[in-house]
Amino acid sequence: RRGAGWVACRGYRCWAGGAAGCPAAMEKETIRVYARVKPLGRRQQAGIYSVDDDEKSLSSLEIVVPRDLADGFVNNKRESYKFKFQKIFDQEAKQDVVFDSIAKPVAECVLAGYNGTIFAYGQTGSGKTFTITGGAEHYNDRGIIPRTLSYIFDQLQKDSSKVYTTHVSYLEIYNECGYDLLDPRHEASRLEDLPKVTIMEDPDQNIHLKNLSLQQATNEEEALNLLFFGDTNRMIAETPMNQASTRSHCIFTIHISSKEPGSAIIRRSKLHLVDLAGSERVAKTGVGGHLLTEAKYINLSLHYLEQVIIALAEKNRSHIPYRNSMMTSVLRDSLGGNCMTTMIATLSIDKRNIDESISTCRFAQRVALIKNEAVLNEEIDPRLMIVQLKKEIQELKDELALVTGKQRTSELSQEELHQLDELIETFLKDNDPESTLDVDADMRKIKYCFIHMKQLMNHSKNSDQKLLSSHISEEKDTNKEAGEEELEKMKKLLQQRDNEINILVNMLKLEKKKAQDALFQLNAASAGSTVLEPSLSVNLEENRSPSRCFSLKEAKDFSSSVHRLPSLPRKTGGKMSLGCQEAFEIFKRDHADSLTMEDNKQLLKQRFAEAKCLGEKLNEVRNKINYLKREITQRQIQRAALAVSNPSEELNMLDPVEEKLRTQIEEEKKSYKTMFNRLKGLKVEIEHLQLLMEKIKMKLQKDFEVWWSEEAINLQQEKPEMVSSPNTTTGYAQFIKSSQHLSTNSFSETTRVSPNEDPVGKNNPITSSNTTSQTRTPSSSSIPLTGDSQADADILAFLKARQSILQKKGKSCQ
Ligand code: ADP
Ligand code: MG
Repeated sequence: RRGAGWVACRGYRCWAGGAAGCPAAMEKETIRVYARVKPLGRRQQAGIYSVDDDEKSLSSLEIVVPRDLADGFVNNKRESYKFKFQKIFDQEAKQDVVFDSIAKPVAECVLAGYNGTIFAYGQTGSGKTFTITGGAEHYNDRGIIPRTLSYIFDQLQKDSSKVYTTHVSYLEIYNECGYDLLDPRHEASRLEDLPKVTIMEDPDQNIHLKNLSLQQATNEEEALNLLFFGDTNRMIAETPMNQASTRSHCIFTIHISSKEPGSAIIRRSKLHLVDLAGSERVAKTGVGGHLLTEAKYINLSLHYLEQVIIALAEKNRSHIPYRNSMMTSVLRDSLGGNCMTTMIATLSIDKRNIDESISTCRFAQRVALIKNEAVLNEEIDPRLMIVQLKKEIQELKDELALVTGKQRTSELSQEELHQLDELIETFLKDNDPESTLDVDADMRKIKYCFIHMKQLMNHSKNSDQKLLSSHISEEKDTNKEAGEEELEKMKKLLQQRDNEINILVNMLKLEKKKAQDALFQLNAASAGSTVLEPSLSVNLEENRSPSRCFSLKEAKDFSSSVHRLPSLPRKTGGKMSLGCQEAFEIFKRDHADSLTMEDNKQLLKQRFAEAKCLGEKLNEVRNKINYLKREITQRQIQRAALAVSNPSEELNMLDPVEEKLRTQIEEEKKSYKTMFNRLKGLKVEIEHLQLLMEKIKMKLQKDFEVWWSEEAINLQQEKPEMVSSPNTTTGYAQFIKSSQHLSTNSFSETTRVSPNEDPVGKNNPITSSNTTSQTRTPSSSSIPLTGDSQADADILAFLKARQSILQKKGKSCQ
């Protein structure tokens, strides 16, 4: 409100009917309400309404209800209704006159820094859009918006005393949703394509519109372009089903900010030019379904507008229901706050619209009761404020220097600092409790002393801490030495154990190799081609190699695998424990699929042999073809040489030898092709077989895993003490024993599937005898034991397990 008194609001003079100056800015002013009657043309009916312009300040409009209508109307006793307006613009009134009387005064006030609103209210077709925006055909039909823009920019240009910036925004509210009509990024084909605008309220209850773009317009042309752009968006978005123009509210806002050069005060004001939705009632719309819903909506938001207007018109109403609709929220300031507001009631007074016209006038009468309080919207520019404050500081400094006789800078001089240091030192050393630290009445010195003291305090604190931590680190050093010694000892011990384990593992490997040999010989029939050797076997091969030294890690893997029975590496690339591998071999041998595997292996072997043979033959044919080609070339050279020395016609004739060679080549080529195709077919078959084998192998492994974990569980249930015992290898040996039982079962199953097969080489005397000889194992007493009870027990348990497997094998072979 600052400076309200000195701002000359030119518009306000017109507004206040020629009253001098603008003193009323802080007084409450009622909303000005005007009426405009639309030309009726040929539909003109005499005597329906009359305008009385006689009264000095206010005009009155009398609507006379024709007798034939009066019966069915609200109160059939009355025939005429009188309404008062600031001014009534009858049918002949031109746009420029309307602008001059209604909009120009408001524009003046907006230029002076007050907020202004002009809104048009009336039923659809009564001339709201014509009044606010204008008619599309004639230049003279320009409405309030273009005329106001023109006027404002004209004034801004004339006024060089201030710096102005102008922005515009264009909001459409349809079904309680706000849309930004000026968003340049969106080409709207529907209203929904436009950015949605939402309302935000700050703690001071000021309304902010999120997503509504403010477009800068530096001149009239730019502003008109924006208006045109928004109107186009509005028009495009409209469809017959969605007659947005009659069902939506549009608010075109001009934002002006101004500042006098050098002043820190900025004035901001805005002018809302509002084209409301049609005010007709739902009953009148008389359409069902979708349109009815929309109509209700419009009426609902206008109904809320009415409620707000009623609440505002009532004295002592504390709560005004602005929040009920988006439109009342947006127009909050315009209706009951800091704004100079004007309403235009548009009327289309023919016989059919009598009731609507009366209700529009009634609404206007209520609006006319509302008092608003417009204040100057001034704020301070922080940048300029800083400049001003700096200036003020300098002035104060100068004044201080004048009083103290000393020119003070913000910094103390080196000499002054030194003096202060000495003073502080003396003060601190002085044991007299009464002693004081006396510096001048100079804030800079006092501050320095405090800072210095603080630093001293912190310093002494830090040195205390350092002392403490150095004590601690000394202690640590002693501990460290002791720890290192201990570590060295442990390392040595570990090395020793590693060596022991290595020896043991190598021993186990030797045993393992023997056992494996026996197993493989038993499986003599399944000694597949090296090419197709399953990678698992390769893995075993690796482990069996006596030259390869077992690493410490592998040894550990072995011992740990004993503890985690159910886990088996799924991929053949992974490592199995030796025991696990052994069990797997047995399982594999007895599995039904091993027969299929065997068949496939054999087939593959055959195919490989065939392929090899074919490949060799192909090479032979190729060589032969090459040889024949060379023959032909040679023959041709000879004939050419002959032709040079002895030219005769004979030479031009075909050479029968060459012809024979060519036929031979063709034949060879044919057989090459046939063989090549056969080889191609074989390749496909081999690849397919290999895939099949891989699949079976995977299945086998999976089955084994399941069986393995089931066994582990069974074992746990049967002999829980074994599992809980720290010597788990005993449990393992037991487990291997029980696995024999299972593999015998699965063996009998296998025989049922394929009785002709001899899966364990029962009828192979060589294998049998070999196995028998292999069953002899070194007695546990012949193994050099380590002396470590745990390791010894592990080895013994393993050997027992192995022995029982071999015994079982021996039995099955007999
Ligand atoms: P509303 O926006 O209230 O639905 P419009 O402004 O679209 O109504 O007016 C409906 C029709 O009447 C338009 O064709 C418009 O040009 C015409 N019209 C309205 N008021 C006037 C007027 N004062 N002079 C001439 N034509 C008018
Ligand atoms: Mg309209």
